[in-house]
Amino acid sequence: TVGTLGVLYYYAQQDKTPGEQLPHDPSKKTLVVLGSGWGATSLLKSLDTTDYNVIVISPKNYFLFTPLLPSVAVGTLSPRSILQPTRYVTRHKKRQVSVIEASATEVDPIAKTVKFEDTSEIQGLVSMTTVNYDYLVFAVGAEVQTFNIPGVKEHGCFMKELEDAEHMQRRFLDCLETAAFPGQTPDEVSRLLHMVVVGGGPTGVEVSGELHDFLEQDLHSWYPELANHVRITLVEALPSVLPMFSKQLIEYTESTFKEAKIDILTKTMVKEIKEKSVVLQMPDKSVVDVPCGLVVWAAGNKLRKVTQDLMARFPDAQTNRRGITVDGHLRMAGVPDGSVFAIGDCSATSYAPTAQVASQEGAYLARILTQLAKKDALAARLNALQDAPASEEAKQEVEGLQRQLAKAEKMRPFQYSHQGSLAYIGSDKAIADLPFFNGNLATGGVATYLFWRSAYISTLFSLRNRVLVANDWIKVKLFGRDVSR
Ligand code: NAD
Repeated sequence: TVGTLGVLYYYAQQDKTPGEQLPHDPSKKTLVVLGSGWGATSLLKSLDTTDYNVIVISPKNYFLFTPLLPSVAVGTLSPRSILQPTRYVTRHKKRQVSVIEASATEVDPIAKTVKFEDTSEIQGLVSMTTVNYDYLVFAVGAEVQTFNIPGVKEHGCFMKELEDAEHMQRRFLDCLETAAFPGQTPDEVSRLLHMVVVGGGPTGVEVSGELHDFLEQDLHSWYPELANHVRITLVEALPSVLPMFSKQLIEYTESTFKEAKIDILTKTMVKEIKEKSVVLQMPDKSVVDVPCGLVVWAAGNKLRKVTQDLMARFPDAQTNRRGITVDGHLRMAGVPDGSVFAIGDCSATSYAPTAQVASQEGAYLARILTQLAKKDALAARLNALQDAPASEEAKQEVEGLQRQLAKAEKMRPFQYSHQGSLAYIGSDKAIADLPFFNGNLATGGVATYLFWRSAYISTLFSLRNRVLVANDWIKVKLFGRDVSR
């Protein structure tokens, strides 16, 4: 134990005390990164910043570990455990990186500028300014898709940002406390304790599983009088949940949910969310008004306005409604000088918009940007030599540089390597579709759950987060979840 603590202390000190950093250098190109999610953070983590003056602009000054967001919503994890300040990554970079907490509102890909604004919570002021870039990495992600369905924005709880999970936790506990209020009618108790999750993608399935765990593990001891009245319903418009998983794992999830008494309604569409109910269109097209206390909206994502506006600048090249079309090197199609890259959920590739894809794209782009810096430096040297009077020595150097430049220009296209799909389904069970010796290994169960935990713990970006998450898991095992609001 002492040894482990010693190692932990050593690494924590290394993390805490960054070395000297090079200052911004006006002779270097400016690389602007928009976003601080999976794509941008993975890029920053791998990027060699000696070659660039890097400016990161994001409305959040942190990276959010989204796979564990549903755990925050039911109080298994504390919100801060899954956040990592962006400066945590940048403070260890060779050259200083500017991190600006602001929203990019407009990109001009011809003038090569980004306009961004910050709303100060203290003064209520909006500050707006513009920055020039040489290269832009557009990694702004996506936002919740409501399909303009009435009541979704007003009454639904989203599951995208940290505040969504915190909001859901407060709503959920409010339902429990209100149901426990003396004198409630049985109908009202039953309504308040009906939790509806919309969307049978991985987010909706994980939220349902986490809700079930809370009810199973903690409700009996905190609210024994309510324990048998809680219901969870998962609503999905398509014929099955989790279409991206294999048939066997879909069936496994469905049977686990059945045992856990989570009702799955497939081929059922949410048409409206009201203050105290949800309107469903059933498979036979009949419309029913179902009373409930809480509706979680996990029905997918759409592009942000800043992304749509940028795409609209290149109407011929950007026609995919799912997102920005990029070439093999993740360059935005249509941009004349190839100075804009797009990664993560704002881009449309042949892969699903997942965290895994975004982080691999970020790491790839870090390598491409290093190679670009090398290429740009060679090209500049070559230009200078070609303008100078030709001596035999200079001629030889030009030839050498041309060979190096030709080599530097050969950049391998991005290739995604699928490490498998993993989802927690509650009841200490997880499902995993893993690529395995050219085939697929589909596993589900408790062992998969342990694998799920260790996989998440080890992909969490920092040592600090690993310690915080592990600590939360132990705390819940020992004392149960905290139900204070
Ligand atoms: P999703 O788009 O995968 O699923 C949303 C679901 O909601 C769809 O199946 C859709 O049919 C359904 N839906 C939409 N409107 C509806 C309505 N009115 N009524 C009923 N159902 C409706 O969304 P997600 O689960 O948030 O996932 C987004 C992306 O992130 C996906 O690419 C997913 O693979 C990825 N993701 C992966 C994991 C994981 O691997 N563990 C976890 C979370 C998200």
